[in-house]
Amino acid sequence: MYVEGRGYLPGKLVVVSGPSGSGKSTLIRLALERLGSAARLSVSATTRPPREGERDGVDYFFTDKADFIARSDRDYLEWAEYNGHYYGTPAAPVYDVLALGGCVLLEIEVQGALQIRRVAPEALFVFVKAPDFAELARRLRARGTEPDPVVLRRLRIAREELAEAHWYDAQIINDDLDSSVEEFTALLKSYGCGG
Ligand code: 5GP
Repeated sequence: MYVEGRGYLPGKLVVVSGPSGSGKSTLIRLALERLGSAARLSVSATTRPPREGERDGVDYFFTDKADFIARSDRDYLEWAEYNGHYYGTPAAPVYDVLALGGCVLLEIEVQGALQIRRVAPEALFVFVKAPDFAELARRLRARGTEPDPVVLRRLRIAREELAEAHWYDAQIINDDLDSSVEEFTALLKSYGCGG
């Protein structure tokens, strides 16, 4: 696929967005388990503090604002501010996988996805939704990882994100998890990730 500034790379890039609470992380994890080593998830950098159980270098590279900003735009393939924190995709590991013909998934919000669309328009863009807004709110509260004001802010952002879903190549309504995993895995395979 063509990546601006890099030229043609044999690998595949998949961008997955969706509101907080849509279940996209679980969906990605289960689809990647099925695909084995054929596809991998990029680890982002963030200035958000770790949640309980999150591990540095595995879930995110946790960093502070000064460090995040000090890295030049060239170090990140894309970056965005979400709910008061910075999030970015370190470019080098993504280029490495793409150069070797592998498949990389980016789990990123909409502003970052728009940046990727500019540099890599042939990437596959997938938007994951909860069945409806009430269900999204219920899932976010049930998760219990965030205090109520944060949940409310995330729901407000979710409304803005849902308004962008229309330009993605595919939308997955994550109602029944098993069938969503099936659908997502099939989509990845048809795009060329994992045979
Ligand atoms: P969370 O704080 O729930 O882990 O993530 C908040 C939002 O930031 C989610 O929509 C997640 O997909 C997004 N996100 C995670 N990493 C990145 C990144 O590297 N870049 C961008 N633009 N968004 C990210």
